[in-house]
Amino acid sequence: MLPYGRHLVDDNDVAAVTTVLRGSWLTTGPTVDDLEAEIARRLAGAHVVAVSSGTAALHAACSTLDLAPGDEVIMPALTFVATANAVLYCGGRPVFAEISDRTFVLDATDIEHRITARTRAIAVVHYAGLATDLKPFEALAQRHGLVIVEDAAHALGAVRDGRPVGSGSEIATFSFHPVKHVTTGEGGAVATSSAERAARMRRFRNHGISTDIRSRERAGTWVTDMVDLGFNYRLSDIGAALGLSQLSRIDQILERRRALARRYMAAFAGLEVLRVQEVADIDGHAWHIFPIALELERLRIDRDGFIRALRSENIGATFHYGPVHLQPYYRERFGTRIGDLPATEDLAARLVTLPLFPGMTDADQDDVLEAVRRLAQWFRR
Ligand SMILES: *Cc1c(COP(=O)(O)O)cnc(C)c1O
Repeated sequence: MLPYGRHLVDDNDVAAVTTVLRGSWLTTGPTVDDLEAEIARRLAGAHVVAVSSGTAALHAACSTLDLAPGDEVIMPALTFVATANAVLYCGGRPVFAEISDRTFVLDATDIEHRITARTRAIAVVHYAGLATDLKPFEALAQRHGLVIVEDAAHALGAVRDGRPVGSGSEIATFSFHPVKHVTTGEGGAVATSSAERAARMRRFRNHGISTDIRSRERAGTWVTDMVDLGFNYRLSDIGAALGLSQLSRIDQILERRRALARRYMAAFAGLEVLRVQEVADIDGHAWHIFPIALELERLRIDRDGFIRALRSENIGATFHYGPVHLQPYYRERFGTRIGDLPATEDLAARLVTLPLFPGMTDADQDDVLEAVRRLAQWFRR
């Protein structure tokens, strides 16, 4: 089965990890420092804090919002559950807004009427790797005193108006899960323009203790002052070595993802049974995944049937995401239900994710294209 995504680990990565394994430091240490510095360099000087997952990055980010119980964060429902769960971890309440059915990212025109006295932040998800246009959200944030949190788990290397996603951001989070652009096994990072937020998140990943073991060694002290309630969200130097080595190839990784996306776009241009994400700049997009939206009105099959049919041809299609407000836990806890977000629900029922990853060959992609064309023909109304 051709997977929808797969990590790509080369001999340099293995050598980098081996070097750390043979050294004297395995947990958060000098290699995590190097990884953070390299990400910061790519994000034009943002403060970067590496953590143990993209979810931990979101949790750390939310921890700096100082949410009181019931404070609200507006976000799309078309995202991985972790975006919303992070708000719950901090005692807040996710408020879901619609996405645009053309760009699949948060619809700036659906935000303002959802803002209340309890709203503290807007979480923007750069879905599939499309760098969301933040300008309308920034205007809203300014007018209502809100923070913008960017879930950039899909968007490492995405660029908009010449600015890499995460550079100049109040808070942007990344994931280094194996299916993402660069992996540390498990891992993530937060980029922020605020030195103060960065310092808080550095404590947050280490139990809320104000020093780490290396700074204590340098200061010749063994006293640990826990000043906040934190977690153990430390990234290991082992993982960081893998991530740093992978990051040195990020330009090639993005180039390959973009080449595959361009081929998909060209091949699907004339097909009437599906449409693709509306993308103004293919090269500014990071292409974490390649979603298509089925024109169900023109097909005799639904989304799951289409995915099943692709899988029976060994194409490991899947879909991203079941809207968060319809997850059983959210329905139970918040009473959210079908009909709350018509545009999101309509799009989600059409979305199929096709394989796209840097190790995918043109021949692999030809197999996908052939299977999609065959199904389009067969199930056409
Ligand atoms: C992958 C992902 C996360 C979580 O990252 P982990 O590293 O798996 O914890 C959060 N949000 C989005 C949109 C993601 O795709």
